Parts: sequence; structure tokens; C-alpha cells
Amino acid sequence: MAKIAYVGLPAHGHTNPTLPVMKELVRRGHEVLYYNAESFRAKVAPTGADFRALPEPMPTEREVSMAMQELIDASILLAGISPRLTRYMIDEFAREQPDLVIYDSVAMWGYIAARTHGLPVACSITTFVLDGSQGTVGLGAMARLMWSALPHVPKLLNWKQSMAREFGKDNAGGITEYADLNLVFTSKEFHPKNKFVDDRFRFVGPSIDATTRDGSFPFDQLRDGTKVYISLGTITNLDSAFYRAVFTAFAGYPAQVILAVGKHTDLAALGAVPANFIVRNYVPQLDILQRVDAFITHGGMNSIHEGLYYGVPEIVVPHQFEQYLNGKRVEQTGTGLLIGDTRPYGRVTAQELRSALETLLTTPSYRQNAQHIGETLRAAGGYVRAADEIEAYIGVTERMLA
Ligand code: UDP
Repeated sequence: MAKIAYVGLPAHGHTNPTLPVMKELVRRGHEVLYYNAESFRAKVAPTGADFRALPEPMPTEREVSMAMQELIDASILLAGISPRLTRYMIDEFAREQPDLVIYDSVAMWGYIAARTHGLPVACSITTFVLDGSQGTVGLGAMARLMWSALPHVPKLLNWKQSMAREFGKDNAGGITEYADLNLVFTSKEFHPKNKFVDDRFRFVGPSIDATTRDGSFPFDQLRDGTKVYISLGTITNLDSAFYRAVFTAFAGYPAQVILAVGKHTDLAALGAVPANFIVRNYVPQLDILQRVDAFITHGGMNSIHEGLYYGVPEIVVPHQFEQYLNGKRVEQTGTGLLIGDTRPYGRVTAQELRSALETLLTTPSYRQNAQHIGETLRAAGGYVRAADEIEAYIGVTERMLA
């Protein structure tokens, strides 16, 4: 049995897909050390992995998610915390000597420390592979990205040089580095075409295990007929203008609407709830998705995959750049529509919402395409396949080291 260290960062979107994988590895008898911010301890505990807190101060989940809204802000935040975390991980690995280090694709402190000790590495990618995805982004958006990054380039170059000086230029690379095994939590068919991606990248599909989920819902209140589920996820959900537009768009609409507004939205402050709505702070999303005809989502990586996994066509209303990219892919694959996609993201009118839903429900190809992509996502194998890939890889690296 192997000793496996997973090294992450405090973001639910990056953590969620890893939990069923680590639970499966523990079930198979491996020892798993799971490194993340202290605030993630309770979430990781049920997997049976041995949780190890990264040293404080760590950015909060909210700070990470705010920074993730723009790639350049994310790079600056990650660069800022990396030297201290890298030193810490180097000490940890000196003591623990794991057989394999799996690091989140942007948790560079994991790979630099592993390389320092010559340990085998694998990479966990919970987004699309961004390198080589310029085609998806589009020239205009790409130019805007470069332009906004320009003033920060000297700072990032300095950071790169100082990392190379301290940790060695062969160990310290860029913000994102890949390994000989890269687990990507989508299907090959759904991933944007990307020449950069080779057979080191394994498309294992979404890592979905309903037993790792929470939330309750009055399922007996669901009626026959069309049902629509709406959620902006767990971070960018404090958007009362959006919820008001949703009320106006679908009050009296011939469908039942399930609206999840997030744990920090005050339900009373939203005003009168239309009769055809069920509004909750938090719902068991996987159970809901299996019962609905359409999903209006902010386009978080987990949400778009969960909807399509169950063959539900989607309307993506992105609230940040990565969600915009995800929504682009939904649009390209004909599995749904993308609206509110110009910066500042997420601004949609009741009229736009209503006409998008009408188009989605009256054009059969959206559901057909969603069902087709859903089949590819289920066939990719999920967390069981991810654990198989990791075990096979440990076998290979053991032979190489022997
Ligand atoms: N989720 C849920 N119930 C809710 C809202 C969200 O179970 O009421 C789950 C959802 O199934 C998904 C995750 O929270 O797994 C949200 O992740 P995503 O990547 O979609 O968006 P984020 O919250 O990171 O923006």
C-alpha cells in the first residue's frame, strides 16, 4: 500500500472533486495525507484521509474566490503565498517521504516541494486545461486578459526569479505545472479542443459521489410537469438583482421553479415569493438535478458537469471569467445557452431569462446534446477511474525508482 500526499488550496471547487477520489484511495487501503487550509478540515474528515493544515495565515475561501475572478489576480495571490508554503511543504516531505504527491494544478508549493525531494508527482485539474485554450477564449477576450495583466508582469517576473533562486530553477516553474499523470475531471468529448493536451492527461469525468453531499428538500412539494432549477453556486451567489429578475421572469410561468440562493442570502429580504417557486438557501443539488428539465446556473465547473451528467440542458449566467469559459463550452457543445456573458458578468434582464428558457425548452437538440454529453461524462469513470489511474501510476513510478 502506498503513502499518498494530496496538496491543495482553500477553494471548494478545487477540493470537491478530490474528496471521492481520496475516500476511494483510503478504502483501497492507502494512507492519504491531505494538505489544505484548516478551514477545510471538517469537509475532508469523512474521506478518512489524514488531514494536515497548511500554516496560517492562509487566504480565506472568499479571498481565493474573489481573486479567481480574474486570472491575473489569481496569479498574484498564488505567487504571494507560494514561497512560505513551499518551505513548509519541503519540511513536511522530508519527514513524511510519501510515495506519490498529487497536487492541485495551481498549488505549486506541492510540486516544487516534491521535485526538491525527487518524489513522483501527479496533478489534479478541476478546471479545463487552460494552457492551449486560447481558441476557446477568443481573440478579443485574450487581448483584454493580456492588457489587464501587463502592469503586473514585472512583479511576476521578479517572483519567478526569486523562486528559481531559492528552490532551484529545475524545481520552481510557473504558476501552473503539469505532471506525467494529470487527472482532468471532465470527459474528452466535453473538454475544449486543445492541442496542448496529450496522453499524459486522463479525462476521468466528474467525480460524483452523492454520499459525500448534504442538504434537505421537500420533495413531496414537487408537482408533475416542467421543472426548472436555478442556482448561482456557493460563492458568487449574493446577487439579489439576479433573484429579482428571476422572480419577474418566471412568476406565473407554466413551470415549477426551484431556486437555491446560497447560505448567506436573507430569504426574507427577497420579498414575496411567486406561487410556482420553492426557494431555499441550500438544496441537495444532485437529487434535484435528476428531477428537472432545465438548469439555470452560474457555470461553476461542478455545476455544469453535474447538470450534464444527468442530461439536463443549461442556461449559463457566468459571474466570473472561468465560469464564462465554462459557459462557452456549454454553448459550443449545443448543450445550452450562455447569457449575461459580457463584463461585468451576470447582468441579465427578466426578458432575457425568459426568452432563453423558452428557447431551451422548445428546441429538442439542447436536451439531446446534454444527454449525449451526459453519457460521455458517466462513461469516463469518475472517482473510481481516477483511483485506478493513480494506482497504475504508482506501479509505474515504483518500477522506475526500483
Ligand atoms: N451545491 C449544492 N447545493 C446548493 C448549491 C450548490 O449542493 O444549494 C453544490 C453543487 O452541487 C456543486 C457545488 O455546490 O457541487 C458548487 O460548485 P461549483 O463549482 O458549481 O460552483 P462554486 O460554488 O465553486 O462557484
